Amino acid sequence: MTTIDLTALRKFTLETGQPTHPEMLDTVPMEHVQDIEIDQEHITITYNQTINHYYNTSENIEREWIYKYNEDPEFVAAVAKVIDLARKHLHDLPENIACPPGCAECCSGYEPFVSRSDVERIASHLHLTPQEVLDEYIVKRTSADGYHLGWIRKVTDDIADQCVFLKESRPGKFYCGIYEGRPDDCRDFSPIGCTDVDTTLSRNKPLKIGAPFQPKRRKNSRRK
Ligand code: SF4
Ligand code: SF4
Repeated sequence: MTTIDLTALRKFTLETGQPTHPEMLDTVPMEHVQDIEIDQEHITITYNQTINHYYNTSENIEREWIYKYNEDPEFVAAVAKVIDLARKHLHDLPENIACPPGCAECCSGYEPFVSRSDVERIASHLHLTPQEVLDEYIVKRTSADGYHLGWIRKVTDDIADQCVFLKESRPGKFYCGIYEGRPDDCRDFSPIGCTDVDTTLSRNKPLKIGAPFQPKRRKNSRRK
């Protein structure tokens, strides 16, 4: 990990009106840079993002480093180095994102919302009709804009329980039973900010998964 030593910039702060004591600077290591914005006066680097997922919403916590720069060539050179390092992290980021195989903690306690196209994809994957998927596996709650039809059921009525499609290959090793058909919410879910995952799970070893999820009712079966 590369650490950017912000305290080394303090001699410039006298001219720019920024904090002059290292204690007043945010010296937390700058990791996982999300964004670098440069306008005519300021450089803003957004980093160390954590996303906490709650029922039906999420909370985004991130740190920001804002610096007002001037024409001083030494200062501009120092800032250019900071930007280079930040960009390096930015480019590194996609390779660093990987879920430990078998984790699937997000498949409990988080409800993937489904759109009509998600339901149709799951239905096609399971060889069911969209209506059968809606009736059997979706808690129906249409969003105000009509885009989401509800969220995927849990194995019990407890919303903190496991997704109905989650399967276990062996104790503690989970996999999605409808992986190719999973909803966009699951496809888009990012492990950035996952701090409570089991760190003993290797990110490099592929997970041997078991049988796919089997629906209770097949297409053309009659409901009683
Ligand atoms: S690392 Fe995070 S996103 Fe990945 S499976 Fe675990 S909880 Fe889900
Ligand atoms: S559909 Fe698959 S990936 Fe999505 S929450 Fe359920 S088990 Fe996890």
